[in-house]
Amino acid sequence: MELRELTADVYACVQEDRGLGWSNSGLVNRGGGLVIDTFFDLSLTRRLIDTYATVAPSPARRLLNTHHNGDHCWGNQLFTAAEIIGHRLCAERMGTDSSPEVLQVVKDQLDSGDSSGLPPHITALAGAFAEFDFAGIELTPPTTLIDDRLDLDLDGTRVELIYVGPAHTAGDVVAHLPEEGVLFTGDICFRNCTPIGWEGTFGTWMAALDGLTALGPDVVVPGHGPICGVDGLVEMRDYLGHVRSESAIHHREGRPVVEACKRIDLGPYGRWNEPWRLPFNVHRAYRELDGVAWDEPIDALAIYRDVFDFREHWNRGRTVT
Ligand SMILES: [Zn+2]
Repeated sequence: MELRELTADVYACVQEDRGLGWSNSGLVNRGGGLVIDTFFDLSLTRRLIDTYATVAPSPARRLLNTHHNGDHCWGNQLFTAAEIIGHRLCAERMGTDSSPEVLQVVKDQLDSGDSSGLPPHITALAGAFAEFDFAGIELTPPTTLIDDRLDLDLDGTRVELIYVGPAHTAGDVVAHLPEEGVLFTGDICFRNCTPIGWEGTFGTWMAALDGLTALGPDVVVPGHGPICGVDGLVEMRDYLGHVRSESAIHHREGRPVVEACKRIDLGPYGRWNEPWRLPFNVHRAYRELDGVAWDEPIDALAIYRDVFDFREHWNRGRTVT
């Protein structure tokens, strides 16, 4: 992980994007300190805290969770002295789509050399999490809850915590420092990395990106991938628009999701990290086209089976059958 000072007293801690779960964090080192997102497990979050301790006089008094996915909040319990802030739906949904205990059981089974009985897509998913350790994680939801926005004054530095969901998830919040021109987006923006959407709609996600672009930040810290500018927001929006319109064509033709994915020309987005996550986004488009409500529970493991199939296809060279 790399600590970068963006402007005076404002930092990002960036992890190299090596696949699912390698996320970014931020620190506003004023007014007692505000940390934006933890990492995925306790060991990585301890290293994050140690990294921030090299520039901060004491542990942060506030922690924001941009949303409820584990790679942004499963280190919460280590911020023992902090007020934990998040959207009301972030707090409600924490642990509902996956739990550290379940992930650890599957990992332990694989570590023991016994993958019998596990379908290959589950084995692959657990393999993607091989470097994380989910033992000991206790879900610790935010207790200071945001509905629309919360403005903080950190020794004269304004920090706007703005709800922009449901976009990537139900409870997406970004942190904007208007005077510094810095924006921490959480997973509203993945940079050079294929996004995954959970609850929400393409429309609200794209509108969120338009709204954030209009803020005109100089520096954007995405939830995953390298630091960028507004170009990262614009490209993310373009990706979503492209996938939505392509999905509509294949939905009309009645094609199953994986077959649609095989036919979608990703163009420059094919060079983003893990392009085979595409079925997550096509499934989402299909749900919208079928009139499914944005907050309807989804079967993520079934979708992951399609991701696994599409990844096999992608790695064979993307020949259309
Ligand atoms: Zn994430």
